[in-house]
Amino acid sequence: MSKLLALGSQGPAVFDLQAKLNCHPTMLPRLTVDGLFGKKTQGRVLEFQKDKKLAADGIVGPKTQGMLNESLQFPPESFLQCANCLPENKGNVMLIRSLFSPIIDQSRKGLRNLFGFSHRSNAATPAASIAGVQVQPLDPMQEAMAINRFGTSLDLTNIFITDKSGLQNRPFTVAIPSKSNGPTTILLNMGSLTPPGDDLVHELAHAWQAQHHLISVQFMDNSIKSQAAALALNTPIGLFDAAVRGHKGYPAFYPYSPYAYEPGKKFSEYAGEQIAQQVQRNEAAITAHIKSVAAGKHDPDNALSLSTPRIEDRRKATVKI
Ligand SMILES: [Zn+2]
Repeated sequence: MSKLLALGSQGPAVFDLQAKLNCHPTMLPRLTVDGLFGKKTQGRVLEFQKDKKLAADGIVGPKTQGMLNESLQFPPESFLQCANCLPENKGNVMLIRSLFSPIIDQSRKGLRNLFGFSHRSNAATPAASIAGVQVQPLDPMQEAMAINRFGTSLDLTNIFITDKSGLQNRPFTVAIPSKSNGPTTILLNMGSLTPPGDDLVHELAHAWQAQHHLISVQFMDNSIKSQAAALALNTPIGLFDAAVRGHKGYPAFYPYSPYAYEPGKKFSEYAGEQIAQQVQRNEAAITAHIKSVAAGKHDPDNALSLSTPRIEDRRKATVKI
């Protein structure tokens, strides 16, 4: 039985609720996803219930919850690859951190040692389960795919796939630095242990960003700030332009998007999602740089790339996504 959520409720279920509310059209301010059901969250629940012709009581029970989930099942925009840039995904990031951090910290050598995963895994390696989340090292096919795109620039021994997914069932990547001088563990939360290759390459690019930066979680900060910049610019443009307002990517990913990029610039002139997108698209100059950095080495170009949030205008003919 699911618990009712109402004014004063708090916790993971409220994170989830606020994130979903932010994905629905509204005349009210965007919610801060903080897990606290206050007056603003209540206002958004009332608005949603009226929109959907539900009894408007501001309380989230099975009917309102069901309608929230159902109306989220719109076809995802194909250019939006991961949930890393969605501030509303914070609840998922916190959940993964809270599940894995204590376990990783038990072992200086990380998850691989703890579960006895062999260095070169094989398809028969059983997944471990942590509080219901399945976790596994890359299988030989996935490793081959990683080496094809990244050369030897990734330390694959500390990268794992889980079957958890983020907002709108999109993948998201979390770096978990060890508190006891062990290596940083990277979890690619793909929604499946055998995800599509394109998605895997995109998330592996975030793993690369984590492994070649002094602060392994910097890519997450950069992604979220880029997204915030796009949203801040897009919202007022749509108020005056009906075509913009009617685009399915508006207001989060159209006309400005953190995934869009203009080819031909220096590596350091693209932000985190723009790099991940280009690795996925196999843009030659970007993948050449990716491959040229030795595993475990700090990359000044990566540091510059992740220091500035960036977006591009998808209405420009030279901009790709
Ligand atoms: Zn991404």
